[in-house]
Amino acid sequence: MDCIFCKIIKGEIPSTKVLENDEVFAFDDINPKAKVHILIVPKKHIESVRSLELSDKGLMGEMVLVAQKIAKEKNLSGYKLVINVGRDGGQLVDHLHLHLLGGDVSMKSL
Ligand code: 5GP
Ligand code: ZN
Repeated sequence: MDCIFCKIIKGEIPSTKVLENDEVFAFDDINPKAKVHILIVPKKHIESVRSLELSDKGLMGEMVLVAQKIAKEKNLSGYKLVINVGRDGGQLVDHLHLHLLGGDVSMKSL
């Protein structure tokens, strides 16, 4: 499958890994929109929130808990968790990902 994030997970495309476990892979965004900008992705290829199934409930929880763990490790005083859904929602890569953004004072307002 021709998916950038699947290739990153497999190590076929280099990335700066932040955390990895059985279900989830986290790495620095190549074009950071904040001082800290990390992408948390499921290892399983899921296109978007639109294609989530009931059986993915635990996986979504794991993604948020991994974001919480990373934010804690990086001592972020506050942060945003963002999921873009579909082209009109700003999603450019069709492999589900949670943006963890933080480290900037301007993070207060949306
Ligand atoms: P989206 O707009 O789909 O929600 O977010 C996709 C994100 O993936 C963007 O912030 C973009 O900078 C990041 N990205 C795209 N290609 C690569 C890549 O090859 N490596 C890394 N580390 N990030 C990427
Ligand atoms: Zn993929």
